[in-house]
Amino acid sequence: MKGAAVFPAGQSLKVLYDIPAPRIESPDGVKLRILQVGVCATDREIASFIVGTAPEGCDYLVMGHEALAEIVETGPEAGDLRPGDLVVPTVRRPCEDPACIACRNDRSDFCITGLYREHGIQNMHGFMTEFVVDQARYMRKVPPAIRDAAVLVEPLTIAEKAFIQAERILMRLPWNLPGAPGAAHQAVVMGAGPVGLLGAMALRVRGCKVAVYSREPETDPRAEITRAIGAEYVSSLDRSPDRMAAGMSNIDLVYEATGSPRVALDTIGILGRNGVLILTGVPGANMHEVVDIGTLITNMTLKNQCLLATVNAGNDAFDRAISDLTAFRTRWPGAVRALITGRFKLEQFATPIRNTAGIKNIIEIAS
Ligand code: BGC
Repeated sequence: MKGAAVFPAGQSLKVLYDIPAPRIESPDGVKLRILQVGVCATDREIASFIVGTAPEGCDYLVMGHEALAEIVETGPEAGDLRPGDLVVPTVRRPCEDPACIACRNDRSDFCITGLYREHGIQNMHGFMTEFVVDQARYMRKVPPAIRDAAVLVEPLTIAEKAFIQAERILMRLPWNLPGAPGAAHQAVVMGAGPVGLLGAMALRVRGCKVAVYSREPETDPRAEITRAIGAEYVSSLDRSPDRMAAGMSNIDLVYEATGSPRVALDTIGILGRNGVLILTGVPGANMHEVVDIGTLITNMTLKNQCLLATVNAGNDAFDRAISDLTAFRTRWPGAVRALITGRFKLEQFATPIRNTAGIKNIIEIAS
């Protein structure tokens, strides 16, 4: 079987042609034919040998964690999954520590030990290959109507997990009663990459007023997508974050999706009173910034602000991503289509990983 692999110790990327085809070995096993896999910044870090761990006893890691797949075979206890069903597999698998309350409650996205495994990232092969065997409970079923966009489910789960939590935090404000329209009245998304644009769409379907702030000019396709979903696009070439905020009402929520520590710091300055700043980026080491921490803490405290950092996602976020993507496709079909800017064969997997052009690049594995 073919697969796109990274050799972390040998520091190389290779297409392998002799990966043993997996077989179902447990009653709840499912065999997946992988259809498409998205490429993201985490894959770039893995391909630069900064992160990424091969499974024990193996010198390579099959890459890929943003997948759309078709079930081809099921074990006798695979629930309602049937051959032909479309699924998006979740990324993380639980640690084995009996005391990890998160993993023991099916919430490995909040794992306490850090000993979890992640497909295509940490100690577990990923989805950039022809077939994968996994367990039924890690599959989220996708309606055939969104087949053309479902590879975007996993990157959307980052926003969904963040907003599920942020909604709870915003509900601490007595006037944001459940059912009140859009608890975040004014939201700002920093960065118009796939995570940012999908997050902006999720905020728009919840009725929030949204501005997307990014470095591309007003004429860029990312700005067009932003306007198509009824959000405002603000280019950093034209306005500073402060100038943008000056023209807005209180900013209740900032969704930081650039991964830049400098941008994250700047956004604290524009966050409104009682606001929530969501951090999703993983900038890594050696990105030092000088911070006046005293002033920062004073301002955050005097403004009742919350800082929410979030990684990975649970089943609730995956299911919300699937139903939101269904809504996005109905409301803004052109904008959703425009998010996928490049399609590559498995043999070309290194190209979209090394070259960051476009919005979301995907690897087509089977049609
Ligand atoms: C993935 C998450 C994962 C994180 C850290 C992200 O790119 O979407 O599922 O937990 O990387 O490994």
